[in-house]
Amino acid sequence: MEFSRYGYLFTNMSTSSLATVLLKPGEADRIIAGHPWIYHGSVLRLTHPVADGDLVQVKDHRQRFLGVGFYNSKSKINVRVLSPDRIEINQSFFLERIRSALTVRQKHLPGVTSFRVVNAESDFLSGLVLDKYEDVFVLQTSSLGMDQRKQTILSAIQELFSPRAVIERNELASRKFEGLSDANGILYTKDSPSRQDQAGERPPSSPREETAGESGEILPSPPREERGGERRPSSQASTQNPGEASSLSHPLGEGRGEGSFTITVNLNGLHFETDLLAGHKTGLYLDQQVNYRLVAGLAKDAQVLDCFSFLGGFGLHAARSGAAHVHFLDQSAEAIAAATRNAKANALSGKCSFEAVNVFDWLKSQTAAKPHEKVVPRFDLIILDPPSFTRNRASVPDALRGYKEIHLRALKLLKPGGTLATFCCSHHVDAGLFQDTVLSAAFDTRHVLRRVATYSQSPDHPLIPMIPETEYLKGFAYELVR
Ligand code: SAH
Repeated sequence: MEFSRYGYLFTNMSTSSLATVLLKPGEADRIIAGHPWIYHGSVLRLTHPVADGDLVQVKDHRQRFLGVGFYNSKSKINVRVLSPDRIEINQSFFLERIRSALTVRQKHLPGVTSFRVVNAESDFLSGLVLDKYEDVFVLQTSSLGMDQRKQTILSAIQELFSPRAVIERNELASRKFEGLSDANGILYTKDSPSRQDQAGERPPSSPREETAGESGEILPSPPREERGGERRPSSQASTQNPGEASSLSHPLGEGRGEGSFTITVNLNGLHFETDLLAGHKTGLYLDQQVNYRLVAGLAKDAQVLDCFSFLGGFGLHAARSGAAHVHFLDQSAEAIAAATRNAKANALSGKCSFEAVNVFDWLKSQTAAKPHEKVVPRFDLIILDPPSFTRNRASVPDALRGYKEIHLRALKLLKPGGTLATFCCSHHVDAGLFQDTVLSAAFDTRHVLRRVATYSQSPDHPLIPMIPETEYLKGFAYELVR
């Protein structure tokens, strides 16, 4: 019997019986340094057959123990390491890990009521994302090992938080790389606990599909790589219950139609109606929660343009912070309708206007000028927070063209002395490359910029530098010098 550093008791018997994945020479250092992914190409051999989803132990080619993790032969990532210790993966493991993730949030986001509790690799739980929206939790399992333990994870969530409901949002592109099919629904509600049964361990039902992306590269559980672009099929589209959810007299009201679970979430004291079953990702972009406040600090008396506004996060914070007017643009009519309701719910409608439109088209039309005509800049603060334009490294050049295009046009609409707050949520475009793109647009429009702020993802999406994939959201605020 030993006592591991995490405090779990284990017997040598239970872990020594695990199948062993031996690594090729030179492949151990990354794992020792804390990266959890072991690619198929790094594996020397398996000591004996193992079922996909089972726990294995990992050793280097000299048989030195490196850790334990979930195995999946179907994925390019054969093993997702969970611990450098010989631990068992049971409910106490999940309780401990979720508790320590919670401690990080309590330290860096004190008083916040809606946040990402577990951000996969960022919290050493590769394949698991857990979001807290007030008293409702949303779960995503993007690896087979995690998916098979959904019931155990659900029990841990119930023990820790006593939630009103737990929802599963498992329609992730990355699941197919693990041989998992889509799943979406309510796993548990306090009023009908029997729903819990539906969380039972389901075998993967879809046949294994090609594991590689277009470029042969995959990012199995990117924290927010697929931001914004994806909507669920319209057959599952939300049926709104605006009456209950958008009223401030029911600040945390709830509406539940078929295929929808609408609640009101409090971010920095503002109320946002969000559909946890049909909204983007797990509901809201929690990774911008801190930046909403920071950018709003630049909005006093400003004419503001919020591009790619979704539920109105940036624009509504700006409106509350004293902006003169905010114009919201999003191509999704549903998102614009929700942002409009959110403005009303926060008593900010008077200074807000909304347009469901493609931002590229809108910016183009606003900056079209005949030869010798000048575009009249009319905004003091322009926010650009687009979805990721890339899925993989191969699409980076196209993405950069897209980023440059919106910056070129936005700069033409910005008044001298005005501020451009711009974000990029693609892991494949790093801060340096992103800034180069902005500067290239500034050069073409003959502008000089002063950088006044640098932004990152909120601390509930922790950055682990040894796991570069955990860093994806970056942003800057630039003032137009001339
Ligand atoms: N700023 C938002 C998040 C934006 S996510 C927030 O803080 O919550 C990206 C948004 O861009 C989505 O709402 C999506 O509907 C929208 N979108 C994607 N492509 C678009 C386009 N070409 N024109 C306008 N909106 C677009």
